[in-house]
Amino acid sequence: MNYDIIIIGSGPVGLSLAKALSSLDLTICIVDQQTKTLLSSPLDDGREVAITHLSKKILSELGSWNLIDEESISLIKEAKVLNGLSPYSLHFSHQETDQVTLGHLIPNRLIKAAAYKTIQNLKNVHCMTETKVKEFSINDTGTIVTLDSGEIINADMIVAADGRLSGSRRQMGIPSEVKDFGKTVIVCKMKHEKTHNNTAYECFHYGRTLAILPMVGNYCSVVITISSDKSTEIMKMTDKDFNQDIQSRFNNRLGDMTVCGEKFSYPLYASHADYFHSERFVLVGDAAVGMHPVTAHGFNLGLRGSYNLANIIKTAQVNNTPYYSKDVLKEYNQKHQLITRPLYYGTNVLVDLYNSERVTAKLIRRLALRFGNNFWPVKKLIMDQLTETH
Ligand SMILES: Cc1cc2nc3c(=O)[nH]c(=O)nc-3n(C[C@H](O)[C@H](O)[C@H](O)COP(=O)(O)OP(=O)(O)OC[C@H]3O[C@@H](n4cnc5c(N)ncnc54)[C@H](O)[C@@H]3O)c2cc1C
Repeated sequence: MNYDIIIIGSGPVGLSLAKALSSLDLTICIVDQQTKTLLSSPLDDGREVAITHLSKKILSELGSWNLIDEESISLIKEAKVLNGLSPYSLHFSHQETDQVTLGHLIPNRLIKAAAYKTIQNLKNVHCMTETKVKEFSINDTGTIVTLDSGEIINADMIVAADGRLSGSRRQMGIPSEVKDFGKTVIVCKMKHEKTHNNTAYECFHYGRTLAILPMVGNYCSVVITISSDKSTEIMKMTDKDFNQDIQSRFNNRLGDMTVCGEKFSYPLYASHADYFHSERFVLVGDAAVGMHPVTAHGFNLGLRGSYNLANIIKTAQVNNTPYYSKDVLKEYNQKHQLITRPLYYGTNVLVDLYNSERVTAKLIRRLALRFGNNFWPVKKLIMDQLTETH
């Protein structure tokens, strides 16, 4: 059982990296505790993922985009940010860009299923399922990975794509800042009476935020961020009470609203590893950076990082440099940190500002929306960051 690279975790980022590496002369093993059935038909997890233009380009190049049913992809043409109960909004429109949409909204399960499909029949990618990585050791000559089945596999390098509370990052002793917001995200799908006009809303109410993201047809994805001690109350609400609550908090903009199916809840942590590499070891996806979902960057960042990593490895191979060497992994680390750090800290500052009950914070956020609307360079900068058009 010798491979060139072992990827721990077949989430959307681990799978996309496996596909990106598969065009190189490398043997790859990707390990995950999930079953093959779940990987090919993932269960609905309530996440509707906003995909930027850059991610669409990468997913297209990897062959995933064309495997996602076009009818399930919703366009986000406009976005509005609201503060408290004020009707004033910071408004972004695709018309201010050279694109027909600001971004795309896609069910996470479809992104995962497409990514799995791209690697399913590749000769140089072996997917080991229903088993976890228990532990591993790394020395000058390679890596040895022990699975919980007792099986042992070897590789020149390990990539950790095992999510934001990455056990392998911890095992490698890579420090990571973990920010616990003390909040929980609740997501669900709702049907509504009036059309959403492909507009996404982010409403910063006091003590909670409400995002309404346009899905295909008269459906939206509702994302509530609330203090964890109040989340159980919302999860337990009857559908009737929940419908009324969301409808009134959203000022009846979409008319009658009805929840469809299950509500899902996620504890809200953000994390950023101090560095993304070590001896023959590298972090990608949420294992490297776990973002607060408000700026919808988690998967987009992970995808971009793994795509960049694959390209750096490709260049190393062309130059006959071992891809697992310190200099190669250092290059990935430096490039990716330059992208992740401003987004990570910028997002956290924004979250703190819009969650604060302090009078000064309320004043600053009112001014910030007006400044954003009226000062074009700032607006363009925010739009470029959110949509990754350029
Ligand atoms: C409510 C919500 C909304 C979001 N919205 C957006 C959005 O709009 N846009 C966006 O870009 N991002 C969004 N995200 C973030 C996005 O979902 C994540 O960034 C993305 O799933 C990270 O993918 P990943 O592959 O790195 O990790 P994960 O999806 O966490 O996958 C990790 C994998 O590792 C496996 N694993 C763990 N430990 C082991 C082990 N020891 N051995 C083997 N396998 C292991 C797990 O089984 C899992 O399959 C959102 C997140 C949430 C919670």
